[in-house]
Amino acid sequence: MAILVFAENIDGIYKKSSFEAVSYAAATATTTGDKVIAASLGTVEGGRLEELARYGADKIVNAADKKLDTFNPQSYASVISQIAKQENVTIVVLPNTYSGKSLAPRLAVKLNAGLVSGVISLPEISSGFKVKKTVFSGKAFADVEIKTQVKILSLTSNSYSPKELNKAAEIAEFSPSFNDADFTCQSVEVKRVSGKIPLTEAELVVSGGRGMKGPENWAMLEELATVLGAATACSKPVSDMHWRPHSEHVGQTGITIKPNLYIACGISGAIQHLAGVSSSKVIVAINKDPDAPFFKAADYGIVGDIFEVVPKLVIAAKNLKSSQH
Ligand SMILES: Cc1cc2nc3c(=O)[nH]c(=O)nc-3n(C[C@H](O)[C@H](O)[C@H](O)COP(=O)(O)OP(=O)(O)OC[C@H]3O[C@@H](n4cnc5c(N)ncnc54)[C@H](O)[C@@H]3O)c2cc1C
Repeated sequence: MAILVFAENIDGIYKKSSFEAVSYAAATATTTGDKVIAASLGTVEGGRLEELARYGADKIVNAADKKLDTFNPQSYASVISQIAKQENVTIVVLPNTYSGKSLAPRLAVKLNAGLVSGVISLPEISSGFKVKKTVFSGKAFADVEIKTQVKILSLTSNSYSPKELNKAAEIAEFSPSFNDADFTCQSVEVKRVSGKIPLTEAELVVSGGRGMKGPENWAMLEELATVLGAATACSKPVSDMHWRPHSEHVGQTGITIKPNLYIACGISGAIQHLAGVSSSKVIVAINKDPDAPFFKAADYGIVGDIFEVVPKLVIAAKNLKSSQH
């Protein structure tokens, strides 16, 4: 029996969430006794396949077909299910990224499998097969039992730290078979945001709300983000007013993130905003209103004017960085 992990790559470079998923599978395998197989689709830069062994893959199935160089949920689900059937797989682990979210239900149908999306901890297998996930926009947890023979889990980013195990994995080339149904929808063009840390992968996030007053004031948040190595995010009204792109909008109707540190600048902390960020490990809220609801959800609060506090944080972060060199 085997656990199959979808190792997602962008332009041939594996995402951090893929290493988290491989490590998660390797940890699960220590209790189930399964072999960990990583499926790599599309062309991957030379030498990178071995990175999957570093994080715990026993075998890497490499479907390096040019047709798979651009993500397509139909063809990807078809190929992953072919690999799953060939390798006698009972558990499939996917990163809960946009790609993983669109693959998981398709795979569940193809493999007749039970699916739990947004898993946040290792499975409990002493009686049955139970996994924990967040529900109600992160306000509660659910323990879900999967009873089907094949089980599919999508793992929430930043909920399982990648661990280096440095295994020596066998690499097997895989030639997928395609049919017309695998390509009824196709991406015509992919435009990537370059030079920025992807929000969903970021360990540190600096976020701004309506208290920022206008788009012209974002330079100080971007400077703080650059010094810290953080991604930038915003509240819904900010993206609705086109101060920032919609891709940065976090919350109930935006992206859900789980960074190690979330710094909220001039954001009130409405329940719909907290829905997307409350699973962050540490939350720092900066607000001039001591009664702002964010302070109830934050681990650290600074009552003050962001236009005074943020520049001071930038200086402190720069000093800290230079003292480390
Ligand atoms: C169905 C639905 C879905 C929604 N989904 C989302 C969502 O996904 N994400 C989301 O963010 N919102 C969402 N909202 C909107 C949400 O209810 C709030 O209106 C929104 O989050 C408020 O954004 P804000 O905190 O930036 O602005 P405000 O509520 O206007 O808060 C601005 C804050 O900045 C502070 N401030 C002002 N000036 C300064 C200063 N100089 N220094 C320090 N602090 C200052 C103020 O004290 C205030 O607390 C949704 C609403 C609905 C009804």
